[in-house]
Amino acid sequence: MNSQTIQVRNPATLEKITELAVASRGEVAGAVERGRQAQTLWQQSHFSERARLLYRLRDLLLDEGDKLGDILTAETGRPRAEVYGNELFYLCSAIGTWAKKAEEYLRPTRLKPHFPLVKAKKVISSYSPRGVIGIISPWNFPLTMTLGEALPALMAGNAVIIKPSELTPLSAIFGAELAVKAGFPEHLLQVVVGYGDTGAALVDHADMIAFTGSVETGKRVMKQAAERLIPVSLELGGKDPMIVLKDADLDRAAGACVWGALMNSGQICTSIERVYVEAPVYQKFVDQVVEKVRAIRQGQSDAEVDLGSLTSEAQLKSIAAQVDEAVAHGAKALTGGKRNPTLPGFYYQPTVLVDVDHSMAIMTEETFGPVIPIMKVKDAEEALQMANDSRYGLSSSLFARDKALAEQFAERLQSGAVCINDSLVNFIIPDAPMGGRKDSGFGYRHGAEGIRKFCHQKTIVIDRFGLKEEFPWYPATKKKEHQVRHLLNLLCHSGWRHKLRALKGLMTS
Ligand code: NAD
Repeated sequence: MNSQTIQVRNPATLEKITELAVASRGEVAGAVERGRQAQTLWQQSHFSERARLLYRLRDLLLDEGDKLGDILTAETGRPRAEVYGNELFYLCSAIGTWAKKAEEYLRPTRLKPHFPLVKAKKVISSYSPRGVIGIISPWNFPLTMTLGEALPALMAGNAVIIKPSELTPLSAIFGAELAVKAGFPEHLLQVVVGYGDTGAALVDHADMIAFTGSVETGKRVMKQAAERLIPVSLELGGKDPMIVLKDADLDRAAGACVWGALMNSGQICTSIERVYVEAPVYQKFVDQVVEKVRAIRQGQSDAEVDLGSLTSEAQLKSIAAQVDEAVAHGAKALTGGKRNPTLPGFYYQPTVLVDVDHSMAIMTEETFGPVIPIMKVKDAEEALQMANDSRYGLSSSLFARDKALAEQFAERLQSGAVCINDSLVNFIIPDAPMGGRKDSGFGYRHGAEGIRKFCHQKTIVIDRFGLKEEFPWYPATKKKEHQVRHLLNLLCHSGWRHKLRALKGLMTS
């Protein structure tokens, strides 16, 4: 492969779509510089103007739905229905939310100091843009992970440079073109195409990096960012558990499991990747899941199908390796379990595995594929213990009719989000903070934190009384020293004798 170009291929048909030039380090530096110039004017624009352009962009995304569908299905191999049902759905919801709420999230706020000795000060906390934000993205949602992440950064007054995945750069390029058409200033939102080196060049020049991708690359990005002391947010991998308690509505649980595990062929950071079912309902749940999975239709993007192809051959191989290893160690594939031989692209059959345990990578490492490993547990406590036995902590799902109990369990699950009697939905609620723990990273997408991360937070303290001098100012005297000690005892000591003594001391000093 020529390291100076990227060949974009359709993973469902294996046809070449196009070839793009890779941005050099110098070109990345130039893009950041142009972004910096565009940002100086942009940061002066009002939220209402930024929102107006966002709404215009939303209209264009809807108007260009067909073209968007063509590009997205071609570079990912996903069914067209999925493109509208999640990528476009997400962007519509996210644009509305950021356009409406950005101003509220970033409004300067008056703080009321708690400590009596500083109460006299007027304190304001405000937010200002960081400058040029670098967004480095994976391939699983080529528009959501690029343009979607850019929305709050832009609303906060920043310029944005997107480095999309080398596997799926076309959607981000199209999104940036639409942004210009919508009226966003030239160079405010740019795309630099390339492999890891291009991403690394962006880390060397941007003012902040919002990274979404694998744990290994995330660590590398953070190390590099540390050299420049620029902030990073890291949205990394997951191994999301689903728990089914014995009182659960099994019809709903099975449906949510199949959708939550197989949507986008399981290539979602919050896909259900392992399932723990209480013993009394285990067999019934497994039977229902298998029946539903056997009914899944896999095929080309424009056919009426449920599942498309995987996005890369590397992904196909890594899924097959995990399933094969599990089967070699005693797991049983009740359906699926291999590459789909009837289709030309990177298709892996939707698979249900049983007789699995935590000695197998399929239960501990991210699979990112259409595989549902299901494990029987003796009770809810064991389910919780198994769910938390992971180096990841992104999201999880819990099914139970007793919602009060489910909420208690949700608090004990070590993950950034828990869906009770549902799956995947937390991601499409842009008002709700979404982030991970442990190896799933840190920092939040969505909610107030999802936009404040793109800002400097500033504290402004205003003197209100205009005295000629303040108590702690020079000269330091013995009298002041005694007074401050008496004051602290009077205000802070919990013993009333100390308070009385301090009061006396103050009156006589
Ligand atoms: P990846 O880490 O291989 O690549 C991600 C991006 O980083 C790509 O654009 C790549 O070119 C770039 N990159 C590679 N090396 C780099 C370097 N040294 N410096 C800077 N950039 C570099 O991940 P991937 O395979 O594209 O994506 C799949 C991963 O993304 C999965 O682990 C998945 O769980 C994760 N993901 C997480 C979330 C989330 O919100 N937590 C969402 C989607 C995907």
